[in-house]
Amino acid sequence: MPSQNTLLASTGTTIFTVMSALATEHQAINLGQGFPDVDGPRDVLQAAADALFDGRNQYPPLTGVLELRQAVAAANARFYGITVDPASEVVVTSGATEAITACLMAVLNPGDECVLIEPLYDTYLPVVKMLGAIPKLVRLTPPKWELPRQELAAAFGPKTKAILLNSPGNPTGKIFTSAELAFIADLVQRHDCFAICDEVYEHLTFDGWRHIPLMTLPGMRERCMRIGSAGKTFSLTGWKIGYVTADRSLAGTVAKAHQLLTFTTPPNLQRAVAIGLAKDDAYFAGLSAALESKRDRMAAGLAALGFGVLEARGSYFVSADVRPVGFHGDDVAFCQALTVEAKVTAIPVSAFYAGPDAPAHYARFAFCKQDALLDEALARIGAWLQRRRAGGTASQVA
Ligand code: PMP
Ligand code: GLN
Repeated sequence: MPSQNTLLASTGTTIFTVMSALATEHQAINLGQGFPDVDGPRDVLQAAADALFDGRNQYPPLTGVLELRQAVAAANARFYGITVDPASEVVVTSGATEAITACLMAVLNPGDECVLIEPLYDTYLPVVKMLGAIPKLVRLTPPKWELPRQELAAAFGPKTKAILLNSPGNPTGKIFTSAELAFIADLVQRHDCFAICDEVYEHLTFDGWRHIPLMTLPGMRERCMRIGSAGKTFSLTGWKIGYVTADRSLAGTVAKAHQLLTFTTPPNLQRAVAIGLAKDDAYFAGLSAALESKRDRMAAGLAALGFGVLEARGSYFVSADVRPVGFHGDDVAFCQALTVEAKVTAIPVSAFYAGPDAPAHYARFAFCKQDALLDEALARIGAWLQRRRAGGTASQVA
């Protein structure tokens, strides 16, 4: 048989699917793949159900139903003071995943360089490579995830076309500060390039931290493609509704990429998300507050068990150093043993790094779960650690 696409052949199955399958196989509590275990708001669900039955089930407009484009524009104005034309500056996609690919397609030509920041979400690197562009990786490392400014500046050059920035970050929970964003904005402008801003966790921020879109910085309105996800904002990760906000000079090209990828996105879900985005401030504050308390619960529980818990300012995830509990294998071995022996699944943070010598002693736990499940997971981990300390079987001691 002839050879198939080499890049895809060398791309493994995503770590989220791998770990979820392992969790199912071992009947483990799945704190790996990030998805809530309760449905999103009832009125949003009802709106989707109602919309199925009112006769608008054929292809919706290419860039999204008008209600949702208007709602995305209104949300930009309400949360960030960004004025957006719903007719020409919003593109609705099938999830942020598609949006990321569409935005990269919109600006990258073969040979262009694209700055990516590790740890990175699993689709970034393969898509950049598929487009024939050249990734320039810059690394954030635990425990502080500080932006190495010199290295970032060095990653930009005459061939740089774009940077892809994820804030609030997965798996870091990092929210870029206004000073860091100003530094990035300066680089983007000096090198005359674009920024693709993966802001799917924009509404999941804690401890008074506020998400600042790079697009709101001076000079950045025309250079940024800002990506949101209804999956995260409404705890409906299976819906796969994403939205790109971009200047009209860019949004048209993003729409062409969307035209090639999926063309349209289910209209009933789009219309329900429009209802969701119009929800009152209490909804958005409540979402953050609920997740913050789960973050606290998980972080405190892991710390009490002896893990080196890292700060998480936003997102669904908290990461922890596994060495302090006496685990001497790497994070992959830890997550494997945790799943098989403790019946709890986490994701190895090294999976978010592409280059060599990645940090290899941190596990990412998704805390977007009911409190009782988090407690049960912590109890299982505690019991497992005790068994290990008491001297388990050879297979239990890494
Ligand atoms: N970017 C990041 C950083 C994410 O964590 C996720 C969640 N899976 C996505 C993009 C994709 O979002 P969606 O499910 O809307 O495609
Ligand atoms: N964003 C989710 C996570 O990081 C998973 C998305 C996926 O499974 N592709 O866990």
